[in-house]
Amino acid sequence: MRAARLHEPSQPMRVDQVDRPRPRPSDVLIKVMSCGVIPNMNAVFSGRYWHHLPPLPAIVGLDAAGIVAEVGAAASKVSVGDRVYVNPLLSCGACHYCRYETPLLCSSAAFQGYFGFFPDSMKLIEAYPYGAFGEYMTAEPHRLVKLPKEVTFDQAARFGYLGTSFSALRFGGVGGGSWVGINGITGTLGVGATLLALALGATRILGFGRNREGLAQVKGLSPARIDTLALGDLPAADWLLDRTDGLGVDVLVDCTGRGGAASTTLDAMGGLKRGGTAINIGALSEPLPLNATRFMNSRLQYRGSNWFTTGEAQRMAEMVAVGAFDLSRLVTRAFPLEGINDALAFVKERPGGFTNVVVNPDR
Ligand SMILES: [Zn+2]
Repeated sequence: MRAARLHEPSQPMRVDQVDRPRPRPSDVLIKVMSCGVIPNMNAVFSGRYWHHLPPLPAIVGLDAAGIVAEVGAAASKVSVGDRVYVNPLLSCGACHYCRYETPLLCSSAAFQGYFGFFPDSMKLIEAYPYGAFGEYMTAEPHRLVKLPKEVTFDQAARFGYLGTSFSALRFGGVGGGSWVGINGITGTLGVGATLLALALGATRILGFGRNREGLAQVKGLSPARIDTLALGDLPAADWLLDRTDGLGVDVLVDCTGRGGAASTTLDAMGGLKRGGTAINIGALSEPLPLNATRFMNSRLQYRGSNWFTTGEAQRMAEMVAVGAFDLSRLVTRAFPLEGINDALAFVKERPGGFTNVVVNPDR
């Protein structure tokens, strides 16, 4: 099969001919139809951060959607021809955290085709060395999200970032009538958080960012429920309080990325309602000096959330199927496998959260 492989960190990928994987009895083989290309990929493939890259050369690629092509003898509840999204989060099933039913905290956690969180992650990475920038990959059935016909493969290839936003909103208890603030609303995580907050019934969605054109586009999703602020026009906290009768938002989703300034986050947290929760999903790396007394007196929470469960992704798929979660505003920009380096260069230019950048390995 053809597969895009990373041979050296920060170097262009090469499309190589490699053996098609053979699924173990407990695995399935998936023909990849689409794989998401996300802003963070260039940073991860540089190998310059804390994460552990797979042994190189490696078939990389994080968010696969495709068709089950072969089912191992011991794999059940899945059939050849099933349309699926593959949750790339690998967990060991045996560590303290897995035994306590929190696989997202697994001591060996890794993303198939992407990186390991810990030195211990390499065993899992080596057990599933097939990333999604290849024509075929293997996975265990419990990591598959069954895709209803209403979800396209290209839309499902966005489930990684969408699921990250969804899990954060669930963490914050967002539901009907919730007021949600979103820092970085025009980016990939921010647009997803907005679409999902709408789907969950949030009535006030207040987002800020720097891209005025993007802000107008976000507001256009639901002008009655969404309001936006261009950063620099007003302090975020003042604006949030002004838009919430002086109370603040129930949940602040912070999509500030690595290298972003903590000052906006800190400012925005001044616009949290008493009892509210700020959730970091963007990998803000600058230290955040919290006002601990206010956090105590107002019973505030600051927490981190990364990724999501397969069940959460399945819920998203069902929400799309019945029209509750509308992905129709995302515009897909698809590249063939041979265009992988162009796709990575394209996301580096930050095309904005409405653009869904994917690679279609079958093209
Ligand atoms: Zn584990």
